[in-house]
Amino acid sequence: MAITKTRFINYIRCPRYAALDDIRNKLLDDVSLEEYKEEEKREILNDIISSMEDDSNNILVDDNPKLEALLPYYNEVEHLAALYVQKHFEGKLTYCSTKTYYQKKFNFIKNDINYLCYVDLFNEHDDTFDIIEVKATTTKKVQDLGPAVRGEKHSIFSKDERGIYRLNEELGIVDPDITEEKYMKNREHLFDRYHSLGHYIYDLSVQRYIIEHDLQSKGLSTENKRYYLAFLNCDYVYDGKRVDGKCVYDPDENGNEIINLIDLTDVTKEYMTKLELDFKRVEEYIKNNDISPCPLGSYCEYKKQTMCRFQPICFDKIPHDNSIFAYIGLNKLNGLTKLELVNEGILNMLDVKEEELKSTTNIIQRNCVENNTIYIDKEKIRAGIESLEYPIYHLDFETFPCPLPRFRNEKCYIQSVFQFSLHIEKIPGVCDKEKDHFGYLAKDNINDYRREIGKALCEYIDIKNGGTVLAHNVTFERGRLKELSELFDDDLETKNKLKMMASKEHSFDTLYLVKNNRELYDSLGITENVDVINYYNPKLNGSYSIKKILPLFSDLSYANLDVKNGNEALVTYSMFDKMTPEEYEFNYNALIKYCQQDTWAMVEILNGLRNLVK
Ligand code: SF4
Repeated sequence: MAITKTRFINYIRCPRYAALDDIRNKLLDDVSLEEYKEEEKREILNDIISSMEDDSNNILVDDNPKLEALLPYYNEVEHLAALYVQKHFEGKLTYCSTKTYYQKKFNFIKNDINYLCYVDLFNEHDDTFDIIEVKATTTKKVQDLGPAVRGEKHSIFSKDERGIYRLNEELGIVDPDITEEKYMKNREHLFDRYHSLGHYIYDLSVQRYIIEHDLQSKGLSTENKRYYLAFLNCDYVYDGKRVDGKCVYDPDENGNEIINLIDLTDVTKEYMTKLELDFKRVEEYIKNNDISPCPLGSYCEYKKQTMCRFQPICFDKIPHDNSIFAYIGLNKLNGLTKLELVNEGILNMLDVKEEELKSTTNIIQRNCVENNTIYIDKEKIRAGIESLEYPIYHLDFETFPCPLPRFRNEKCYIQSVFQFSLHIEKIPGVCDKEKDHFGYLAKDNINDYRREIGKALCEYIDIKNGGTVLAHNVTFERGRLKELSELFDDDLETKNKLKMMASKEHSFDTLYLVKNNRELYDSLGITENVDVINYYNPKLNGSYSIKKILPLFSDLSYANLDVKNGNEALVTYSMFDKMTPEEYEFNYNALIKYCQQDTWAMVEILNGLRNLVK
């Protein structure tokens, strides 16, 4: 039987995975290239999708087959990484981003299992080689690994004289602001395969283990090989240069290259002894072929992009609605995590006794579920609504967080605005779905329309004369408005208007009304329940997403729309250049309808709340 690196990383999750996978695949004698590519594709998409999450940590994209439209961006990232290596390293580079067949392959056989891996970039020189695994994520994960000192992250990594990240200890750097204890605590994450950076290091280490065993089986030396990850540089700012319409990523004005390497030769070496145990464990799991349920744990990666594919089977006892996972902000109960509670048989919200709950919000949730009632704090909601200044500008942006920047001043995965929808409510409750609707949608996905979007916003939103920009998850809209304002250094009037729209003073969140916002209610002189949710209905199931809230206040539905959610919106936009004129026209109008629905939903929710507290 054959096990690829990707499959190994799944098999090590728990004793049950291999047995479930056995049933699923009727494991083949050898892993076919197609199957391998399918697994790799899933991995790559997971990287891209996780990196696309927005500022407010909302997962923007789900399991949608259309997302494969994003794969070419990964191929381009791999190509850029290859160019980087060719520029900075001596040697002969082997790589091919589109045909695994041409990638360098390593394998070794132990106890009838053929372990194999393909290398993204293989650089041969002076009788040795470098291994470079390319990931469509950013170096923010490297910069963020370290303690925060006075609000600033102090990474345990620094760049060497070649601009390659290495651990501070390897470079002889001692950060006076980090104690050894803190350094070591953060260092431990390198060896946590479910940590955001540790995940990639484990991947590279498994790669190294297979490569070294391949070399040893042939009597070749494992010495002097170097192991790197290649990430997109989160500091890189694109200057907008294009040649023949294609983006060219020269070093930016601060000398940043779009690709950065992380040298993990020493770290992966340290991993080799730990991996001995993991390989033995996987062998046992395969031999035991034990299908019986095992405890759930962090290895299930529940609700993460990398969630185990067998989650629907192993989590089948957990109710879809009002399970223990619906408790808001509850990290631990009686010292147990939610997954540990599930392992103890505590599955439903009502399996927890009221007296065990510490937070008033959780007690409210429990009472609502137990009595099938709705909780409403009329005083807070009313005060929140009364604090709104008119006109209310119901605003929503659609963005494309492209792995590679496309326009001037953009960074990798920036939430690049391509559309907005706006409903203007001049006086309370008076807003027409069509007449009071304004919007802008980029004509294509090639040219930069951000300045036109900024200008159009200023045309419709007269914020200088007062009013409120209202959004659901307003932090996201504020961030985009601020970014748009930065494009207008030559037009201070527009710049300042956009900055004003983004200010806390002029913007507001529907979540402040339904969920809470302590700062707001403090400022409004509310003294009771300032840390408690304002509204709860068991149908929310612990979530205040607009799709959950809307049906409680309106019969408006997304089901009959051709573009139904943000994921479809960004993929539709990203495909504009590949559509026939007829497809383009149809999808362009579908996008307008979808975005219009989002802001109209906000109008309906606000009206619903008004009626609720009358
Ligand atoms: S869902 Fe969790 S317990 Fe089930 S196979 Fe996956 S990792 Fe194992």
